Amino acid sequence: MAKMYYEKDCDLNYLNGKKIAVIGYGSQGHAHALNLKDSGCEVCVGLREGSKNWAQAEAAGLTVKTVAEAAKWGDIVMMLINDEVQADVYKKDIAPYLEEGNALAFAHGFNIRYKQIVPPTGVDVFMAAPKGPGHTVRSTYVSGKGVPCLVAVEQNATGRAYEIALAYIAGIGGARAGIMETTFHDETETDLFGEQTVLCGGVVDLMQCGFETLVEAGYAPENAYFECIHEMKLIIDLINKGGVAAMNYSISDTAEFGEYVSGPRVLPHEETKARMRAVLADIQDGTFAGRWIAENKSRGRTFFNSKRDQLAKHPMEQVGEELRRNMIWGGDKDLDTASN
Ligand code: NDP
Ligand code: MG
Ligand code: MG
Repeated sequence: MAKMYYEKDCDLNYLNGKKIAVIGYGSQGHAHALNLKDSGCEVCVGLREGSKNWAQAEAAGLTVKTVAEAAKWGDIVMMLINDEVQADVYKKDIAPYLEEGNALAFAHGFNIRYKQIVPPTGVDVFMAAPKGPGHTVRSTYVSGKGVPCLVAVEQNATGRAYEIALAYIAGIGGARAGIMETTFHDETETDLFGEQTVLCGGVVDLMQCGFETLVEAGYAPENAYFECIHEMKLIIDLINKGGVAAMNYSISDTAEFGEYVSGPRVLPHEETKARMRAVLADIQDGTFAGRWIAENKSRGRTFFNSKRDQLAKHPMEQVGEELRRNMIWGGDKDLDTASN
């Protein structure tokens, strides 16, 4: 069993006198910076010049500096920019300003696990990785809850890296939900596996297949959207609250019977697991990481961008947009107030 930590195990005082530079103000960046500020920490945001988020961060009451200035100012530098640009930004604007005793922090282990960033030995290297989208990290914090987080320490130069990491996670609200101890190695591999096979890759493909099957059989696209896409969240919310049992309690016995009969027909258990093991092997041996780095460095994101364009044009996205726009409350499009 993994070691778990909660609020009683975290001491925010380990952040006393420490300046925290949050690099990036996207999904995770805005949530970390605002939550830490609201927890009484000394925070600044580091952004590139001309960033569209500069004014937004200032309007939220945060101090904003360039990435290099923020890295120079900070005792803890949290990397919340896209994984694929972190190595270049680190080399140019962060590494030159890291001093002995500083901490370099991450919300995902990709660049450490695949050695795109190799920090100097005198600094702490820790991970504070929320297991949820940044907008939920913010909305749950505001409502007195939190998103579960992973903690890991790659380098403990000061001997206090764990205490500082736990304090940081308490500052963003994660200790309210639970903190699991792991390693950069395990976090990176399980995170990539989860998002590729189940959460993003798996779910999107499953919904798309269901939508297309119904529409191709002559049913209304609106019907297919409600059935295979919109209802997904309602079902997942029940599982999230009380496990599969809570969902099975709420759905009809007919639906539960169909779950047992047809689930394994569309996802043959052993075959699906064999395919998942192949995906995991590509993650473990660096094949996936190499492909993602090459997609950015030498292929100009042509595959990535063409897939994104293709999906935007898919009827499930277009029908969904129309249906959500016409909901009496205008749909739940404001990510910052999403209740998930
Ligand atoms: P976003 O894409 O939402 O935000 C990226 C931020 O990085 C933006 O502020 C952007 O700047 C900035 N940025 C991008 N390129 C550069 C550059 N070349 N120089 C300076 N700044 C740059 O990122 P996420 O929040 O999704 O991801 C951040 C980290 O958190 C990643 O390591 C990711 O794996 C991890 N993570 C993300 C989760 C999520 O919920 N999205 C969940 C858990 C972990 P600008 O404002 O100028 O556009
Ligand atoms: Mg991820
Ligand atoms: Mg039903």
